[in-house]
Amino acid sequence: MYKLSGVTKNYMKGRGTVAALRGVDLVVEDGEWLAVQGPTGHGKSTLLQILGGLDRPSSGIVEFDGRDLAQLRETEVTKVRAQSIGFVFQTFNLVPTLSAQENVEAALVPLRVGTAARRQRAQMALDVVGLGDRLRHVPGELSGGQQQRVAIARALVKEPKVLLADEPTGNLDEDTRDEIIGLLETMWRERGLTMVLVTHDSTIARRAQRIGIMKNGRLSFRQPRPSRSQAARPAGAQPVRAGAAPGPAAQAALAPAAAELAPAAPPSDLRAPDFPDLEDAAHPDLDDPDFEDAELTGLEEPDGPDLDDPDFEDADPSPANTVTFD
Ligand code: ADP
Ligand code: MG
Repeated sequence: MYKLSGVTKNYMKGRGTVAALRGVDLVVEDGEWLAVQGPTGHGKSTLLQILGGLDRPSSGIVEFDGRDLAQLRETEVTKVRAQSIGFVFQTFNLVPTLSAQENVEAALVPLRVGTAARRQRAQMALDVVGLGDRLRHVPGELSGGQQQRVAIARALVKEPKVLLADEPTGNLDEDTRDEIIGLLETMWRERGLTMVLVTHDSTIARRAQRIGIMKNGRLSFRQPRPSRSQAARPAGAQPVRAGAAPGPAAQAALAPAAAELAPAAPPSDLRAPDFPDLEDAAHPDLDDPDFEDAELTGLEEPDGPDLDDPDFEDADPSPANTVTFD
């Protein structure tokens, strides 16, 4: 699905530059669920935006289904995004003046779906996320969890291949968080989606098949602890799956992982990339309950731009916010 090589991203800031990504190599298989965890300001959102074709890398290759998003013309990237990639953001990014149904329909406008079909598909998508009785509510009349459900319906109504979620539960209380993650997991499983989910939250990350850690613009993978069955794995084979059972498409996509049991090395694209400068010992222990706090207080770059800066939020491109109804 994705193959990233040597991806860097520099942002201009004042007279200097911020190196948000410093050489990311990453393969995401069809149907895989990858969680990306790590402290604030270390490049998680930047990576997600580049995966989604919302931004371009400063250098490197971002192959999506065999095409380099970094090289495609803007109209082509827009098309890929409209057809194949669903986004869910921490702040929901719904259009406040549109009803739930209209917000969901907005995702189908660029695909030139006719009015009647658009309406019907939006209603079905809202039904699936449990909001069939809230079609005409505007976001301000919905709870946070409900707004995020609308955003999920909007992301999925076009039946994308990929769902990219950036801290999708960051603004929700714990119960709602669990509901939303449960919903995303169901969608992933039932629809054979490829899902990349950025989160601070270890509880959520652990439900994914694989966890990447973003630190200082570099992505590394910790080795999952061997389970009883994995303990018998021959030397050299790398575990690539943990946690939830994948959906049918995911199983098909992950079939090469069955080769884990063979003595040969696994396919190279399933192997965690090698980051010699990120010592294993320096990796955060995700099972350590103190991980989040320790990371957040200890590793934040003191002079990084403030992500709570409203200007930064505004700069966050939202597909729905740029859509107009015809
Ligand atoms: P995360 O999602 O892990 O919190 P980000 O990817 O948002 O991190 O940011 C990585 C780094 O790039 C941070 O230092 C951030 O301040 C900076 N950054 C992100 N977006 C921009 C931007 N549009 N302009 C300038 N700097 C940015
Ligand atoms: Mg972020």
